[in-house]
Amino acid sequence: MAASARARVLRAEGRDIISLALGEPDFASPPHAIEAAHAAALRGDTKYPAVGGTLALKAAVRNKFLRDSGLDYGQDEILVANGARQIIFDALIATLEEGDEVIVPAPYWNAYPLIARMAGAKPVFVECAERDDFLPAPAAIRAAITPRSKWLVLNFPNNPTGAVCPADHLLAIAEVVREATQLWVMADDMYEHLIHDGSRNATLAAIAPDLRDRVLTISGVSKTYAMTGWRVGYAGGPRQLIEGMARVQGQSTGGVSPVAQAAALAALEGPQDMVAAMRSAYATRTARAAAMLTAIPGVTCHRPRGAFYLYPGIAGLLGRTTRTGIRLETDLAFCNTLLEEAGVAVVHGAAFGKSPYFRVSTAASDEALEAACGRIGAFCESLMQN
Ligand code: PLP
Repeated sequence: MAASARARVLRAEGRDIISLALGEPDFASPPHAIEAAHAAALRGDTKYPAVGGTLALKAAVRNKFLRDSGLDYGQDEILVANGARQIIFDALIATLEEGDEVIVPAPYWNAYPLIARMAGAKPVFVECAERDDFLPAPAAIRAAITPRSKWLVLNFPNNPTGAVCPADHLLAIAEVVREATQLWVMADDMYEHLIHDGSRNATLAAIAPDLRDRVLTISGVSKTYAMTGWRVGYAGGPRQLIEGMARVQGQSTGGVSPVAQAAALAALEGPQDMVAAMRSAYATRTARAAAMLTAIPGVTCHRPRGAFYLYPGIAGLLGRTTRTGIRLETDLAFCNTLLEEAGVAVVHGAAFGKSPYFRVSTAASDEALEAACGRIGAFCESLMQN
């Protein structure tokens, strides 16, 4: 958010800036979702909502979990919130006490540690190595568990790395979770439909049904349907947890706008061909941008299997000096200088808990991506000469 705000300021000053900072689809929301919202508002669906979601949307979410994951959640095991972010907020605020621990594989989307801290808990990070495809090693998760561990976060496909967890790796993690009976798992499947080869996402509650009562399975319309601004996310989980989360939601936002819920319902139940079209666009762009970044001296770039991000490494560039005399010691300095000098906004790896890297969002046009990679290349080459 800060990087894209700075990009906006520079743009307002007349600078030519390409922003690849935000994790936001560049496609429009489905027309049938917009029409459904319009119809809902016209028919007077504009009153206070049921706190945990309309019955109609909960039924659609139930079908979605069945269809996509083979998970059978009852109506009282489903919660609809203002985005997956609120689902995470509800869950952590409802369950954490001072001194509890939340195990977060790094790199991570920073809402998990920030909300955990807000709840008085301590995030405990598990390092994921690039050579392991940025997957958390089961042994490393086991080593991070203490009697205070309450949650383990699993986010696949991953923001910021695009890592997808193969079923056998997830089964090995399930084995660790089985041993730690106090541990709950937050399976954040926001990017579940954006696995580049179109394969089905492996999710813990489906792959290890015996753990189902300790797993919160999270998704939403933001990424799958290009509906970030509608603010609709949902989750399936054990009834008692869902009830506690609804209590938090009742006193924070009071539920989700019925107009937005009508749009989400239409997206879930309407034609799904747009999802496949967006997935294939992200896959093509991500592969093309990865090839361009890999060719840059000093930059390493893995090949993600999902989402719309790249997470290139810049260990080979730290300590170098820009043409304007700035010595780059951190990925933050690299990204700040890249924005000021080359006009490309990306996010530094430290914001995701793993340096020295930066995150590129590939949810941008082919032209923007190509131009941005060209600028990053020229910037890095100038560093190699200094
Ligand atoms: N989970 C992950 C992994 C994300 O990257 C994001 C958004 O960037 C979210 C959840 C939040 O999504 P929503 O727009 O539904 O709040």
